[in-house]
Amino acid sequence: MSGPSRELPIVPRRSGAVDEGDHGVHGRGIFDAGLLDRCISCGFCLPVCPTYALEKDEQSSPRGRITLMRALEAGRLEPDDPTLQHEASFCLGCRACETVCPAGVEYGPMLEQWRDHQWRAGHGPAPARWLRWAVARRLPLRLAGLVRRFARTRARSVDPDTPHVMLGCAERVLFPKVSRAAVALVDGADAPAAQGCCGALHAHNGDSTGGRAMAERLGRDLPGTIVTTSGGCAAHLADALGRDRVVEISEYLARSGWSPGTKLMTHGSHGHPRPIRVTLQDSCHRIPAAAKAAASSLMVMVCHLLRGGVSRVWSARSATPGKR
Ligand code: SF4
Ligand code: SF4
Repeated sequence: MSGPSRELPIVPRRSGAVDEGDHGVHGRGIFDAGLLDRCISCGFCLPVCPTYALEKDEQSSPRGRITLMRALEAGRLEPDDPTLQHEASFCLGCRACETVCPAGVEYGPMLEQWRDHQWRAGHGPAPARWLRWAVARRLPLRLAGLVRRFARTRARSVDPDTPHVMLGCAERVLFPKVSRAAVALVDGADAPAAQGCCGALHAHNGDSTGGRAMAERLGRDLPGTIVTTSGGCAAHLADALGRDRVVEISEYLARSGWSPGTKLMTHGSHGHPRPIRVTLQDSCHRIPAAAKAAASSLMVMVCHLLRGGVSRVWSARSATPGKR
């Protein structure tokens, strides 16, 4: 098999004792059995990894990190090893590597178990600790959401046959317009105020047990279909509750045959055409290909309707601006 793997030796950058010979070795029980063994070191994931693109360093690639995890599991590296500490933190957790892996490597759970061990007893990076602390404070979040007029609806009971828009612990405070737009777009949707955090921030930052418990609690708060506007939350929730319960909003709209219709406005308040800039940035999280295709087709539909009104279309995937 040809590919980047043959040209990129695994060379430790800041510490020793990284060895592909750790493949298949289990010792400390940090990782679920079998998770580390799936990687066949083919290197197909390297081109999609943003940290590898930045550093061009094997250890900042998915394959290199899996080698580090194997060394940790085998006892060849200690959690305080500087390379382990750096790479556990430097990985974005975007899971782009999973989408191209021919061996079905489940990188997300591996990263969560790695960070659980590496950052145990509150030793993780300060920003991760601060994030977990902030989203655990539900009352201040709710109060801040009230000030920003978050998108909650006033239903007295939560109907399992109604699609529920997830407000998100950060979105309800920082981007309440996104939540309100989602409620407006999804026919018949509600957005119950009594919904907690999905736990993605916890699971991705060294507390996978707490993160999973929060996801399961949210699943009970919002029985039935949960519609999200966040790729990271969607990936975490789908892992905990199942893909049939969690739908990314583009996919939901595409499935339901939604059309922009007359909801779009291309004119300002004085009737003059208003130039609009349209941007599509795919979530880097492991949302299914169907959701990515849905987002693209919805964007094409919107651009078609706005033809003449759109001044410029940016595609964040190609990072290439184009005139329309
Ligand atoms: S994670 Fe998957 S794509 Fe990357 S090297 Fe391992 S087997 Fe290949
Ligand atoms: S999760 Fe993202 S940043 Fe981390 S190894 Fe995979 S592709 Fe690279």
